[in-house]
Amino acid sequence: MLLGVGVLAAGLIAATAVIPGFGPRALISSISGAFGGVTCDDTVCPPDAEWTRPIDAPVTSQFRSEERPSHHGVDMAAPRGAEIYAASAGVVIVAECNASLDGEPYSCDVDGSPEVGGCGWYVKVLHAGVFATLYCHMETRPEVEVGDAVVTGQLLGHVGSSGNSSEPHLHFETQVGNDVVPPNSNSAVDPIFFMEERGAPLP
Ligand SMILES: [Zn+2]
Repeated sequence: MLLGVGVLAAGLIAATAVIPGFGPRALISSISGAFGGVTCDDTVCPPDAEWTRPIDAPVTSQFRSEERPSHHGVDMAAPRGAEIYAASAGVVIVAECNASLDGEPYSCDVDGSPEVGGCGWYVKVLHAGVFATLYCHMETRPEVEVGDAVVTGQLLGHVGSSGNSSEPHLHFETQVGNDVVPPNSNSAVDPIFFMEERGAPLP
């Protein structure tokens, strides 16, 4: 079984209520301001941007299944080193290592394990519509940096097994925010439906 991210971002918006469904599109421009100094305006986060699957690999673990209710994304099994692409145009708001073991920071440059916590090397991209996508467990430091504008399908990094992971795979989240709450793991929705609605169904 592949493992994923149970703890990531749980503290970010701790206690915030889950956001049901998708917020009104009218909120898009109102949140185009700063995310930690990163701007997501219509130029870098075009509202009409196309969507594409982040990797051509099968979903092997579902969103918030009965066995894993706190699994806020899907796992897509792919060989180590496979390319991971931005699901849509946007701006990179996180590109870093997130891993810990027994409360101590842990390397992302080695394989993680079920005992290691965190997303490993990962990227979060903010998109128009107050959406964000999250890509976890990369093999090495991501190919993008915070503040980078990315286009649909741009290379973000490579599949690995860093962080809370038992074998190489991509943990992919689709998160929905609004003008008050930034997109986060607690506000994630099922990527299978999210991507299907955007014409980029997961395999
Ligand atoms: Zn996962």
